[in-house]
Amino acid sequence: MPDPALKTFGISGEIQGAAIGGEWLKTSGKTLAVTSPIDKRQLGAIKCSTPDDTNAVIDAAHDAYLKWRVVPAPKRGEFVRRVGEKLRQYKVELGKIVSLEVGKITQEAQGEVQEMIDICDFAVGLSRQLYGLTIASERPGHRMMEQWHPLGAIGVISAFNFPVAVWAWNAALAWVCGDAVVWKPSEKTPFCAAAVQNIVAEVLKEMPDVPPGIMGLAIGDRHTVGEPMTSSHKLPLISATGSGRMGREIAQVVGKRLGRSLLELGGNNGLILTPSADLDLATRAIVFAAVGTCGQRCTSLRRLIVHESHKAEIMRRLTAVYAKLKIGNPLNEGILVGPLIDENAFETMEKALAAAKQQGGKVTGGGRLTDGVPAGGAYVKPAIVEITHQAPITCDETFAPILYVMTYKNFEEAIEIHNSVPQGLSSAVFTSDVREAELFLSPAGSDCGIANVNIGTSGAEIGGAFGGEKETGGGRESGSDSWKVYMRRTTNTINYSKDLPLAQGISFDV
Ligand code: NAD
Repeated sequence: MPDPALKTFGISGEIQGAAIGGEWLKTSGKTLAVTSPIDKRQLGAIKCSTPDDTNAVIDAAHDAYLKWRVVPAPKRGEFVRRVGEKLRQYKVELGKIVSLEVGKITQEAQGEVQEMIDICDFAVGLSRQLYGLTIASERPGHRMMEQWHPLGAIGVISAFNFPVAVWAWNAALAWVCGDAVVWKPSEKTPFCAAAVQNIVAEVLKEMPDVPPGIMGLAIGDRHTVGEPMTSSHKLPLISATGSGRMGREIAQVVGKRLGRSLLELGGNNGLILTPSADLDLATRAIVFAAVGTCGQRCTSLRRLIVHESHKAEIMRRLTAVYAKLKIGNPLNEGILVGPLIDENAFETMEKALAAAKQQGGKVTGGGRLTDGVPAGGAYVKPAIVEITHQAPITCDETFAPILYVMTYKNFEEAIEIHNSVPQGLSSAVFTSDVREAELFLSPAGSDCGIANVNIGTSGAEIGGAFGGEKETGGGRESGSDSWKVYMRRTTNTINYSKDLPLAQGISFDV
């Protein structure tokens, strides 16, 4: 029996792995069993997309773009507004599928759908604000201006841990910008994507003038779906979210054809806890950021850089809270930490803890949890590791609830430790000292794309640009002016004089 939430979206048994709007293609790729990390229960299966199926979705998206690009942007915004309305209607059911496929607790799963709704609202407003500049020309009787035009069909490759929000961050903006979207979700979360596809298909049905190909979906692995997308000239932008390994591969393929890539890769997020920090606030923020989503957020807190005067106290507080964390079935009320995504993730966590011990770390917690949790899932005890920042393991992003705790003596040293890892996504300082806060946010402070004061590293709002530096890939999605990456800029010079003066005063008489 399929879960009632899956039934809401017509998902039952084995479904097809590719769709163009409301039309599901008859795919002929390999069959992929879809299981829940909660208890290993099989939720259904997917007949994956072949490269040919994927190319059919790309072709349809390209054709749809040719029509969509000339629809006035506020009208495109109306489509996104209705998508947002549908998401409001299906928030509970879609959130349930996120929980079933990712193991997120209900609160976080619903929050993820809320993020989709928020970005739709943002994009609707944006659809009337795709402004260019008017620029002073050096030539008399001339005017210069910038225009922003739709870019094309774009490819969205998403990771398992934000199976619907990341697509929405991209799609809502891309659509108002006049682009079509081809989505490759993670193979671990195909039903989330199928549900979203069917939600959008309802809007397409209500708006028959919208070309259905603007909503393309292809489910499969990196070979049958990923490669056709990254190598296609019909997808001028590939927006890819995932591990550093994936980002390196994609950047090379897209770079080879001189395409544009927007990379949102792994983080190794740090929080500096200073002597003047409010420890009550900090404790709550640290715990949410370190164990929320079972440590499987790109913005999860991985490194706590604590002033040596606070080390004993913060360890006392953290170990006390960790000891009573409610871990278990994420669908149950009151549970704060669900399972890891799969056994591989569990083994990776075990290996990281073994390496940390070998590198001189003192581990509290960690290991498998079997009591009071559903059988079959990879439930773990979150771990705290007291370790020096020189230990190589602290430079890795291990996608699990491991918090490395290291000490510092003076604030400049804390910033240096903070910036000493290859990744640069999210960061935070807890301080009541305005000098420390401002230094952290200054050019000599955090080197991350996100830098916070007195809040944790995870849980960003959609209004700001989201993304990170260094090995996090440099991409920016979501709010602020992130929309510009989904458009092409043209610079126009208009001569309304009767002369033809050349720029830079060049004389060229013929
Ligand atoms: P992953 O790299 O294994 O997979 C991500 C996606 O990329 C999947 O859809 C996968 O099929 C696809 N993929 C992998 N290799 C590919 C290739 N060569 N060509 C085309 N597609 C390819 O990542 P994951 O395990 O699903 O997610 C966890 C990772 O994602 C973590 O590193 C996390 O930090 C990162 N992440 C980053 C952000 C961000 O915004 N910075 C957000 C969420 C997750």
